[in-house]
Amino acid sequence: MRPRQLGTLNGSRVSSGASCQNRAPNVKRRRPLPATPAGLRARARRLSIDAEGRANDAAQIVSANCDDRPNDTPISMLVVHGISLPPGQFGGDAIERLFTNRLDPTAHPYFATVATLRVSAHFLVRRNGMLVQFVPCTRRAWHAGESTWRGRGRCNDFSVGVELEGTDDVRYTAAQYAMLARLVRALCARYPITDIVGHRDIAPGRKTDPGDAFDWQRLARKLGSRLPGNFATPRRRRLAG
Ligand SMILES: [Zn+2]
Repeated sequence: MRPRQLGTLNGSRVSSGASCQNRAPNVKRRRPLPATPAGLRARARRLSIDAEGRANDAAQIVSANCDDRPNDTPISMLVVHGISLPPGQFGGDAIERLFTNRLDPTAHPYFATVATLRVSAHFLVRRNGMLVQFVPCTRRAWHAGESTWRGRGRCNDFSVGVELEGTDDVRYTAAQYAMLARLVRALCARYPITDIVGHRDIAPGRKTDPGDAFDWQRLARKLGSRLPGNFATPRRRRLAG
């Protein structure tokens, strides 16, 4: 069986689902990084998503706020969100508490308005670039709510939700753009993602995040693609891997 082509990385073909024995002869293996301290660090930095939908470089916190995706529904979209709790305050563990139904409604006046929500996202990217995962990508996280993209509703069914810790009007950090770009590449290597959009793009009038503070061009430059919106297939192929 011919190995499935995932794309290119550093000019070398990358493939999966094949052993050395059945690898097509014209497919080069990705050159392993040298076993030096620098090489080991670089290897550790390579973010990937496993078959169960978990990122290898994310802190895992389990959220019960998820369920099965509909059958035969490929993951084709990434939704970028912005969140901070209380709004405008960064740090602390309130986001984790909200997504795991442990937010104390008496700890802050704002918390009382959201503590009973049953919501989650697959990922959270902290201000320092730290990646937290709450829901495996294979499961449906509850991040988009009522939503439509290009005439297709129920965006949770076919998307991965990524929360950036922030607000609509405070610049997101360089570490967050760097981690988000790594995450997009890792997700594209695993899933047929064709669209990267903001929450406000799929719920206009109802949601505003990630806000004007999110610099789509900055992410687009890192990925070599126009954003938000359709993620052209040839470019996505170049990213895969
Ligand atoms: Zn959102």
